[in-house]
Amino acid sequence: MDTTSKLAINQITTRDQWTLEQAINGYAHQQVYGISVWFDKVREMGLKNAARQLRDAGMTVTGYCVGGILSARDGQQFKQRLDENRRMIDEAAEIGARCMVLISGGIDPDSRDIDGARNRAKEGLAALLPNARAAGMTLGLEPLHPMMCAMRSALTTLELANDWCDELDGGPELGIAVDVYNVWWDPNLAREIARAGNRICAFHICDWLHETTDLRFDRGMMGDGVIDIPKIRKQVEAAGYQGYHEVEIFSQRNWWRKDPDDVVKTVKDRYRRFV
Ligand code: ZN
Repeated sequence: MDTTSKLAINQITTRDQWTLEQAINGYAHQQVYGISVWFDKVREMGLKNAARQLRDAGMTVTGYCVGGILSARDGQQFKQRLDENRRMIDEAAEIGARCMVLISGGIDPDSRDIDGARNRAKEGLAALLPNARAAGMTLGLEPLHPMMCAMRSALTTLELANDWCDELDGGPELGIAVDVYNVWWDPNLAREIARAGNRICAFHICDWLHETTDLRFDRGMMGDGVIDIPKIRKQVEAAGYQGYHEVEIFSQRNWWRKDPDDVVKTVKDRYRRFV
C-alpha cells in the first residue's frame, strides 16, 4: 500500500497561492486524493462546479470548513449564524464531505462571560443537529488551543468536547475533529482520545513551532516543531479512527509564501517521515 494513501491536505495549506480548482489539480498532480475545502473557496468556484470537479478528480473530501461560531449573545447575530450553518450543511452534503468542521466561537469583545459563551455555542449546536441528521452530515466539533479562546473558540479542550457530545446526546451526526495543534499540550489527551472513540471524524496534523509568533497563522510543517505526531496518531487509531490524516497549515510568514507545488512536495515528504 502506498504510504501516502491516507494523506489529505486541507486547502488552507495553500490558501494564498491556489484557488480551489488549482488546489484540486495541484494535489491530484502529486497523487494526493484527499482534500478538505473551505466554504469561501467553494462559493468562489460555484458549488455545483466545485462538487463536479472534486468528483471528477477522484477526491475524497475529508472536511468542509469552517462552521459553528455560535457563541454570540445577540439574538439576531445568533440566528444569522444558525442560518449560515444550515446553508453550509447543505453545501457540505453536496460536495460529499465526510464531515463539516465546527468551532464554537469565542467571547463577545464586551463580555467577560465565558460560561455564557460556552452555553450559547452548545445551544446553537443542539439547534443544528436535526439539520445535520436530515442531510446525513456529521458535525465535527473541533476544540481549539486555549490561546484562541477569546477570539475563536471557548471550546478549548477535548474533554469539554466530549462533555458536550455526552450532553447533546447526538448520534452519528455529532463527531469530534482532533487537531494535534490544538490538543498536543493536554495532560489528559490520551484519556480523552480514548473516550472520544468513534466520535472522531477527522484527524488534523501539522506541528507546533517552539517559538510561535502568531495566535492563528504560524503553524509549522510536520517535523519542524515539538509535537509527537505518531504517538497521537496511534492513540486516535487505537480509538477506532480509520480515516485520513489531514495536513492543515496556517502559515502567514512561511508556507503561504512558497511555491505551492513545493509545499505539496514537502507535505508528502514530511508525512512519510514524521507522521
Ligand atoms: Zn484543524
